[in-house]
Amino acid sequence: MSALIEDIEVTCPYCGERLELDVDCTVGNQIYYEDCQVCCVPVVVEVTVDDAGDLAGIRAHRDDD
Ligand SMILES: [Zn+2]
Repeated sequence: MSALIEDIEVTCPYCGERLELDVDCTVGNQIYYEDCQVCCVPVVVEVTVDDAGDLAGIRAHRDDD
């Protein structure tokens, strides 16, 4: 059984610092905003979950990207 909550690190597209995210894979594919813990700018986080409920990919990008 896979973990339902994954601890993931992504890079902030604004300041380049690492963000630690808790991703809930039970929700499935999702797009949400996460405030950067360093520069406090909202970052768009796109999460892709496969059919088995495992994290397939994550992307953090700017709002206008
Ligand atoms: Zn930042």
